[in-house]
Amino acid sequence: MLPAYFQFYNPVKILSGKKALENIPHELELLNASRPLIVTDKGVVQADLINIVKEALGGSNLTIGAVYDKTPPDSSSTVVSEAAAIFREANCDSLIAVGGGSVLDTAKGVNIVVSENTTDLMKFIGADRLTKPMRPMIAVPTTAGTGSEVTLVAVIANEEKRFKMLFTSYLLLPKVAVLDPRMTLTVPPRITASTAMDALTHAVEAYSCLQKNPLSDAYAWAAIDLVRRYLVTAVTDGKNEEARMALANAALMAGCAFSNSMVGLIHAIGHAVGGVSRIAHGLAMAILMPWCMEYNMGRCAPYYGELLFPIAGPDEFLRTAPGKRADRCVEVIREMNLQLNRLTGMPVTLKESGVKRESLPDIARTALGDGALTFNPEDADYNEIMGILKKAY
Ligand code: NAD
Repeated sequence: MLPAYFQFYNPVKILSGKKALENIPHELELLNASRPLIVTDKGVVQADLINIVKEALGGSNLTIGAVYDKTPPDSSSTVVSEAAAIFREANCDSLIAVGGGSVLDTAKGVNIVVSENTTDLMKFIGADRLTKPMRPMIAVPTTAGTGSEVTLVAVIANEEKRFKMLFTSYLLLPKVAVLDPRMTLTVPPRITASTAMDALTHAVEAYSCLQKNPLSDAYAWAAIDLVRRYLVTAVTDGKNEEARMALANAALMAGCAFSNSMVGLIHAIGHAVGGVSRIAHGLAMAILMPWCMEYNMGRCAPYYGELLFPIAGPDEFLRTAPGKRADRCVEVIREMNLQLNRLTGMPVTLKESGVKRESLPDIARTALGDGALTFNPEDADYNEIMGILKKAY
């Protein structure tokens, strides 16, 4: 059934495929920019990806103002301030973010600070707090997971208070997303696995949470189908360009889906796990997904039942009795986690991933304050979230 009303907005220009990077100078010119700050991290530099980007930009009229490569996992407001100072000192007029979600969101944070002409990023936490047009940003994802290249969200860790700050605004949408096969070939198998499970979670939550709509459904469905068909190949044969590009497009489409329909309980708890215990976002998603889906089963069973088709394929969907499809969908996700554990050693419990049992109450309290909870079809209180965390432990 169609919702009585919905909105869908995605103005990001998408360049996907061979030599996509080589189009960046032209895109910046169209945006009236010529002196970008490149934001990245050490892992991306070590994988030699910045040299590929620099080569692709060579011979054009643009000048790289500076390269900031100190982004840590999940970023922080200190890191954003440091990179913003470099943007100003080097007289930059735009941003090229080359990295995973941590890098892309750092660049979004820098954009807030320089465009709002502020020193206090925290003032802008929450929804629709930005007032000024942002500087042009080009996003070059090097993991296939977060979809941040097409989302209105930035997630930045608050190290002091140990929670993840969420910033949402249409103004945060990058101008251009560049998916180039050279950018994800070097992602190690375990990160390939957990980031793909992040994309899968975006699609599952987009398809089942309160703001779902026919357009976000279509993106979510297509994303899940690609994850099913290409995840194992990307994990076991990392240099396979077709599989890498399939996952890059899956992550992007899942990002489009959830940027419009938002995410729910899995993300609310996952952000809290990441904030309190500093475990990788995709890993938290993979572990929590089946338990949260079971918790949501009362309201989401019809949607999960439908999703068995893209998650397990048409044969399995038809073989499974309609009344059993939702449960089977959750079971298939558990099987995917176990397969990824066998292939890459990806942990499948919170305990294995290093979360301390005594942190669970703190995680549950933090999750209660996360905005994503608002969009979940089932309410969840402290005791219910503790119940989920204990099962996932
Ligand atoms: P990440 O950006 O933290 O990167 C993980 C690791 O992979 C890093 O060590 C990095 O150096 C390395 N890496 C990245 N690309 C590589 C490559 N091509 N080759 C080799 N190594 C590479 O991880 P992520 O999962 O992409 O991003 C997670 C962050 O994104 C979290 O903070 C999460 O909360 C946030 N997030 C944001 C959104 C959004 O819409 N803005 C959505 C989901 C998650």
